[in-house]
Amino acid sequence: MTSPVWHPFTQHGLGEPIPQVARTEGAALHTADGSRYVDAISSWWVTTHGHCHPRIMAAIAEEAGRMDQIIFAGWTHEPAETLAAELVRITPEPLRHVFYSDSGSTSVEVALKMALGFWDNRGEPRHRIVVMEHGYHGDTIGGMSVGARGVFNRPYQPLLFDVATIPFPEPGQSQAVLDALEAQCREKPAALLVEPLVLGAGGMKFYSASLLAEMRKICAAHDVLFIADEVMTGWGRTGTLLACERAGVVPDILCLSKGLTGGAIPLAVTMATAPIFEAHLSDDRARMFFHSSSYTANPIACAAANANLAIWREEPVLARIADLGDRQQDRLDRLATHALIRNPRRLGTIVAAEIGGGTSTYLNSVGTRLKAFAMERGVLLRPLGNTIYVMPPYCIEDADLDAIYGTIAEFLEREPRMGDLFAF
Ligand SMILES: *Cc1c(COP(=O)(O)O)cnc(C)c1O
Repeated sequence: MTSPVWHPFTQHGLGEPIPQVARTEGAALHTADGSRYVDAISSWWVTTHGHCHPRIMAAIAEEAGRMDQIIFAGWTHEPAETLAAELVRITPEPLRHVFYSDSGSTSVEVALKMALGFWDNRGEPRHRIVVMEHGYHGDTIGGMSVGARGVFNRPYQPLLFDVATIPFPEPGQSQAVLDALEAQCREKPAALLVEPLVLGAGGMKFYSASLLAEMRKICAAHDVLFIADEVMTGWGRTGTLLACERAGVVPDILCLSKGLTGGAIPLAVTMATAPIFEAHLSDDRARMFFHSSSYTANPIACAAANANLAIWREEPVLARIADLGDRQQDRLDRLATHALIRNPRRLGTIVAAEIGGGTSTYLNSVGTRLKAFAMERGVLLRPLGNTIYVMPPYCIEDADLDAIYGTIAEFLEREPRMGDLFAF
């Protein structure tokens, strides 16, 4: 009997196997049939410290014994209060307000609504959002609107709202990007929305901290809000708690999700500065922030996030991340000697490279073949077209890193029809 489950980003018509996971631990997924897979992509970038982290799972169990969901409009609870206070403490001082939602996409939707609400409540309505080419901000209609257009969203394009797009800063193009941003900012857009330093789903594309800092300055000079989507880059992925930190950048609005609970359970926050909050402050109910989701600030999810933050406070997480970076660099350096590897790069725990000289599209078959090849060898990889990347949980051990990099190397050596793949 076929399963009624309809999976995300899965073409069921291909009949590809869908392994059933029964247990997770550290950097591993264990399937019902007893196989072990190394989770080289942190289960789509969510798992930070490791799967089933004992402190986070214990916090979830404990909170579940106390409270389930409660209405959050006009009500509050200790896990949400503690978490918000702690988030304000660990992020730059101007970010003082914490709005809860439940996914990266909703954190971006909330950010966009906050930005538009800010301008509207100031009596100067602005509706245009500036984004970066190749950006990704989620799969809701709003998220797709501010993200790259392509095969992912072609059927929905007539519904997506217009945005202004600045080019991605390819090497040597920094000034052109800054000029484009400057020109857009003169048109008085509501906000610039960017993924700081690394464009994730767009192909693990890196750009410099100095460029990010320049972009931030241009926005400030033109009174354009700066929204940082750190849904992927947050929680140490790039080597610091936030990617913005590497550039000394403080956004007006900050989106966090994925690693917020260590990757254990869904939760997101959109953090904002005082002026954004205060623009919605009034004795007029018509000016409140009109957004909620049923599960806003779920107490169990907040408890998981509080446990994550305790781990950050009490354990040497940044040192662990730095060490993982070094251990990956050695392996990347070896892999980079292979003739088919192009543009090898690493930032913090994120390693990426292109395979071969073919143009990258998401459906590019090299990545698909590598994914299947790795699966057979107990490694979960999910290349983006011909861009391969490794983004493991911070607890991964050397043997598992060797399995990941060894599998990629073996693929490059042994894939028999490799030559043909680049003929197109
Ligand atoms: C994953 C991601 C999102 C969307 O988050 P979901 O939890 O999948 O909705 C938004 N922005 C960035 C940068 C992401 O990587």
